[in-house]
Amino acid sequence: MIANDTLDRWDRDSFFHPSTHLAQHARGESPSRIVTGGSGVHIEDRDGKRLLDAFAGLYCVNVGYGRQEIAEAIADQARALSYYHAYVGHGTEASITLAQMVLDRAPDHMSKVYFGLGGSDANETNVKLVWYYNNILGRPEKKKIISRWRGYHGSGLVTGSLTGLELFHRKFDLPLAGILHSTAPYKFREAAPGTSDADFTTRCVADLEEMIAREGADTIAAFIGEPILGTGGIVPPPEGYWPAIQAVLDRHDILLIADEVVTGFGRLGSMFGSDHYGMRPDIMTIAKGLTSAYAPLSGSIISDRMWKVLEQGTDENGPIGHGWTYSAHPIGAAAGVANLKLIDDLNLVENAGAMGAYLKSSLTEALGDHPHVGEVRGDGLLCAVEFVEDREAHSFFDPARKVGPQISAAMAERGVIARAMPQGDILGFAPPFCITRDEIDTVVSATRDAVAQVLTK
Ligand code: PLP
Repeated sequence: MIANDTLDRWDRDSFFHPSTHLAQHARGESPSRIVTGGSGVHIEDRDGKRLLDAFAGLYCVNVGYGRQEIAEAIADQARALSYYHAYVGHGTEASITLAQMVLDRAPDHMSKVYFGLGGSDANETNVKLVWYYNNILGRPEKKKIISRWRGYHGSGLVTGSLTGLELFHRKFDLPLAGILHSTAPYKFREAAPGTSDADFTTRCVADLEEMIAREGADTIAAFIGEPILGTGGIVPPPEGYWPAIQAVLDRHDILLIADEVVTGFGRLGSMFGSDHYGMRPDIMTIAKGLTSAYAPLSGSIISDRMWKVLEQGTDENGPIGHGWTYSAHPIGAAAGVANLKLIDDLNLVENAGAMGAYLKSSLTEALGDHPHVGEVRGDGLLCAVEFVEDREAHSFFDPARKVGPQISAAMAERGVIARAMPQGDILGFAPPFCITRDEIDTVVSATRDAVAQVLTK
């Protein structure tokens, strides 16, 4: 066992943490936590502190921590066959079974699943496949991708470009050319108070139409969007948004990539966000909930119409020039199979819907009237509380005050984790699907007390 102070020193001296203030961490000035265990909705740190994780890690441990069924499936797979690749037609029982299970759950018009490792690489795959598709169709100019401000699609080169958050672009020379950002479907920030959903949807659609007209539809290959904005603020779309956007895309022969990394496999109380909001995607990105993060695995689910063109492409050009060593890694696939079975056996999608409704109504009851709460919103087990400086004036706090991070820290002191979202003073809630009403009560009372501590009325 390594002594705690040695681990602390190694952590500061050797470990490059993602999404972290590097200098403050190296100097030991910023909060850190070394996590040692987890069970159900709780994690435990090396000091023995137990926290209720109301963000399921990074909204990914959907079935909860410590599931022995998944641990056993991983161990069995590692003993029987720790690895074999999936190139040139190779497969394993786990990867083939998982592909079938994913398609059984996906909309009927989806055809095949490509497996990667994480959400970012899956979206990189998607952009390559969209470009390949249009080259095979003889449309080499039709390559631009439209994303949205506040969208989150990863932090690679193309995917960091798709992400519509300033922090992911600044000083990284992103976004790359050919990636455009359309209006964020975020009524609370983008529209005047009192604007109806219908009017705001009309505006989002008009902005998109205008962008397509300006760029030329024959230059635009695809539109990518999360069914519900996630990391950009946890914002459900305005009523009617997706069917209206879909109609525009169909009219201009623009593919739709539904980034279901957060929403896939039940978080909204439906199997996919696409079912939930009436989207008809050509590609669906899946990751997180595919294995509940017991092992890294992602996927790109490809529609029939795209698949036919990809097949045509390989008839004309030979094998597809795309793949990772760890594509469809059997350990990830074994975790995925066990995870999807568990979601079915425990009725977790239904529970996510029921507990999500209870979480949102409880947060609304506890905080809806607070003078510094601008909005309590969400869908399924994905909720947010957004703080404002002045409700009447609809004004926001100076980001330097770090109101969101302070409230999140005050909650952690009370034993509950909610995430301070990266842009805006927004507290995010996305607990494991197995959360109970009593546990939600604990989350809500910790939130109320933390808000009272940080924001005196
Ligand atoms: N897409 C969405 C909607 C996400 O929320 C995320 C991560 O949070 C990603 C893609 C990127 O996934 P990863 O961090 O596994 O690369």
